[in-house]
Amino acid sequence: MIVFKFGGTSVKDSNGVRNLFNIVKNYSCNLIVVVSALGKTTNALEEILKLSFNEEDECRIKFKSLKDYHLEIINDLFPDKSYKIYEQIEEQFNNLSLELFDKKHDSYYLKYVQVVSFGEIFSTKIVSSFLNSQQLSNKWIDIRKIFITDDTYREARIDMKISKDKAKEYISFEDDNIYLTQGFIGGSKTGFVTTLGREGSDYTAAVLANLLDAEKVIVWKDVEGVLNADPQYFKETEKLDKISYQEAVELAYFGAKVIHPKTLKPLHNKNIPLFVRSFIDPEGQGTEIDCFQKYDQDLPIFILKKNQMLISLFPKDLSFVMEDELSKIFSYLSEQRIRVNLIQNSAISFSLCIDNANSKSKQLLEKLKDDYKVLYNDQLELLTIRHYSEEAIKKVTEGRKIYIEQRSRHTSHFVIR
Ligand code: ADP
Ligand code: ASP
Ligand code: MG
Repeated sequence: MIVFKFGGTSVKDSNGVRNLFNIVKNYSCNLIVVVSALGKTTNALEEILKLSFNEEDECRIKFKSLKDYHLEIINDLFPDKSYKIYEQIEEQFNNLSLELFDKKHDSYYLKYVQVVSFGEIFSTKIVSSFLNSQQLSNKWIDIRKIFITDDTYREARIDMKISKDKAKEYISFEDDNIYLTQGFIGGSKTGFVTTLGREGSDYTAAVLANLLDAEKVIVWKDVEGVLNADPQYFKETEKLDKISYQEAVELAYFGAKVIHPKTLKPLHNKNIPLFVRSFIDPEGQGTEIDCFQKYDQDLPIFILKKNQMLISLFPKDLSFVMEDELSKIFSYLSEQRIRVNLIQNSAISFSLCIDNANSKSKQLLEKLKDDYKVLYNDQLELLTIRHYSEEAIKKVTEGRKIYIEQRSRHTSHFVIR
């Protein structure tokens, strides 16, 4: 059995859905196909949710355009208007409207997950119906019934033990050899929908592969494989043909968004290879990620993580920054799920570079100010170079202001503007 994952970019329009069909139809083995929300739907849902609190008119406008976007894709894929998908999508948008405008939710997070999870429901209904309409028989599965999670709604953790039994129950391959399901979402033990964190569909594919002992996972992307730099920011890139799980974890952790950082562990635990291949050129070999460390090369790999905040703390009374102080800071960071990408200390100062994605960093600054003199810089970038050389460092840092520099044997990091 193989697990496929198609991200939002691969299914951003009707041609994308047709392309998915063309790829899937060439495989005759047992398959699980994990699909993300169409295009940038999850971003649109986050925006709609925000507007729903105090800009209802604007919210309704954005809601309509999201619905129109989905209807346009369906109109193109299903010329026969009596097809059931029209009714299904109408019903799902009505449900979304209830969540947005009518229901009272106990917390913001509960409303968040209820709203954003619709993206994957819409997309999988559409893709599954389209494959069936093309005689590619497949079964639509509700992953909320399989991935049983805790109730940390936005970053839920999957209970692997219960989920394994559920996966075996729902995905038996007895009647069908293709199962189609949602990335990114799960269901809590208390019966609510949860999400696994933004961009989490790669992780969904990996967990399903782990639970059901898949032969391999293929994530279909808009690039030819894992490259030695993000082609969006670097002009010359080279494909890495084979890399180890360890190398891939380093790349993903420091910001190579081609693979979600949580994806590698469930695969490594069961020694299941991950292939990153192009949905634009499905014949291409892509990149294979497996346990072979000998293939990790000397080629420098550049990884850029944007939107970083560098915070430096100085105890007000010139005392040392000791373990118990650090432990307090890290407990708070862990509680708030604030991601720390790099730390550096001296006797009387401590610096940390964090993702500056939302209001959490402002709250952190306020909290730290109680005990420390706090200096910070935002809108920085964290540049990581794996297998660095002096030449490689010069190429990407020349002329840039460097705030922190760290080097270990294989990796160098630069916090830069
Ligand atoms: P998905 O839609 O499946 O979630 P993503 O958009 O998250 O896919 O990932 C693909 C993108 O990752 C590429 O378009 C590319 O810009 C970016 N990317 C970042 N680093 C790398 C890298 N090292 N190799 C390939 N692509 C990369
Ligand atoms: N649709 C979700 C997101 O955009 C999950 C994913 O695409 O991986 O975050
Ligand atoms: Mg992604």
